[in-house]
Amino acid sequence: MTQCNPKLDYVTLSGSPRDRGVTHGERFAAEIKANVDRYLAKFSHYGISAERARELACKFIPLINETAPAYATEMQGIADGSGVPLADVALLNARYEITYGAYADAAEKTSLRPTDGCTSFGLRATVTNEGRPYIGQNWDWMSDIDVFMMGVEQSNAPNHVALTEAGIVGGKIGVNENGIGMTLNGLVSTADGEQTFQTPYHVRFRDVLNATRLSQAIGALLETNRACSANVLLGSEDNELIDLEILPQSANYLYPSDGVLTHANHLKGPEGESQLERILPDTLCREPRLRRLLTDRCDTLSVTDIKNALRDHVDHPTSICRHQNSADPEQERSSTRVSAIIDLTAKCVSATAGPPCQATYHNYAVSER
Ligand SMILES: [Zn+2]
Repeated sequence: MTQCNPKLDYVTLSGSPRDRGVTHGERFAAEIKANVDRYLAKFSHYGISAERARELACKFIPLINETAPAYATEMQGIADGSGVPLADVALLNARYEITYGAYADAAEKTSLRPTDGCTSFGLRATVTNEGRPYIGQNWDWMSDIDVFMMGVEQSNAPNHVALTEAGIVGGKIGVNENGIGMTLNGLVSTADGEQTFQTPYHVRFRDVLNATRLSQAIGALLETNRACSANVLLGSEDNELIDLEILPQSANYLYPSDGVLTHANHLKGPEGESQLERILPDTLCREPRLRRLLTDRCDTLSVTDIKNALRDHVDHPTSICRHQNSADPEQERSSTRVSAIIDLTAKCVSATAGPPCQATYHNYAVSER
């Protein structure tokens, strides 16, 4: 394979929530505007007008103000720094929830294709040759969405490093200075969208990476009802791993087997009726395939072994290393945007800008105090 060396942009966001937001907004003004246009186009594809999407986004602003004031202040900073209206910044930060909120009819909701694909893993220290726990994933999403790695420095919460989309406060793949890390997979269940105006997932993700203990991170995801479903795999430096299949009012909890935990885009636990395999049937191949690649070995795993598993092309182009599928217009723009391997002990995300068969991993470590 040809290796190239694109690198994700990295920006340090420090100071008050407003300072962090303004820095984010000023640095990525053009990218934030472009992301708003791309999601409005995507919403339009599902029959959600720009007017309707913005109407729903405006309803999330007071909700976020009330439940997460620092997050709301950082969103306002992004708006002020970028010149993008606050409603459009809110639209990005509540993009999962808005997709479902626009639909009143359950049959319409299950016909949507809005959800991030992805294949995730967690490894306990006993199965890695460095004796350290790791988590990671391939994040498969629209090829034209602008993303960057942010180093967040905070006075009243742990510093962390995380991947985010330009305009979104809460990172979705990252680790903090306490060695708590998260990865994310899209899920769809029949219960999605019954209660639209719940705390958005991206707000919860910021709380996950603000956690000082693993149980706090779990609580941020589960303490209140959700508008839709998501899968979050959490790990800690203490060598604990848990996967949460989160549905609007319930959740399944999965733990490692033989030191390995894997997940893709279908429910593995008993709660809820999974929907995403109807539109991403490859999820049923990717999850067990990644598990086998990580377990069918005589030796413990090196980081190189993990990278090779994430470069797997069985069932190409809808493989673990996902590529654009020109045969399917609905999915043709989805590919592995970022492959990430998180060392929970070193508090470091090693990530690619593009499919890992073509791109090199670069390290992004949490800032020390
Ligand atoms: Zn590839």
